[in-house]
Amino acid sequence: MTPEITKVDTLVVGAGQAGIAMSEHLTRLDIPHLVLEKQGIAQAWRTGRWDSLVANGPAWHDRFPGQTFADTGPDGFVPKERVADYFAEYAQRFNAPVR
Ligand SMILES: Cc1cc2nc3c(=O)[nH]c(=O)nc-3n(C[C@H](O)[C@H](O)[C@H](O)COP(=O)(O)OP(=O)(O)OC[C@H]3O[C@@H](n4cnc5c(N)ncnc54)[C@H](O)[C@@H]3O)c2cc1C
Repeated sequence: MTPEITKVDTLVVGAGQAGIAMSEHLTRLDIPHLVLEKQGIAQAWRTGRWDSLVANGPAWHDRFPGQTFADTGPDGFVPKERVADYFAEYAQRFNAPVR
């Protein structure tokens, strides 16, 4: 559960790739912040791409530090739904304060 923050100096708009990465850095630096997302984490990957899309780089490359793709080998190309799941799992890992 995201702690109830009513006043914050650092606001991240959007919980896509960029917003989640930013939140991870802010969390590591112990900087209180909120991430505001109008749809859902990595929603653009779920509904803003054609169904057959896979990441255009291999899994070893197209990932965040410290987390591999569970069901795709390093040389595989991850389907878009799994990319979205991955970002959501990553956000959960450090309890990203997404609203
Ligand atoms: C066809 C295609 C293929 C791609 N393939 C790859 C790939 O293989 N590998 C790769 O690394 N990258 C790939 N990219 C690029 C990648 O999708 C983008 O670079 C990445 O998603 C950008 O992340 P982002 O967080 O900046 O934006 P987005 O992922 O678009 O996230 C922005 C988020 O902000 C939210 N938002 C927007 N406005 C507001 C608002 N006013 N208030 C609250 N929330 C808001 C949206 O709902 C969304 O969730 C591809 C892009 C496209 C179009």
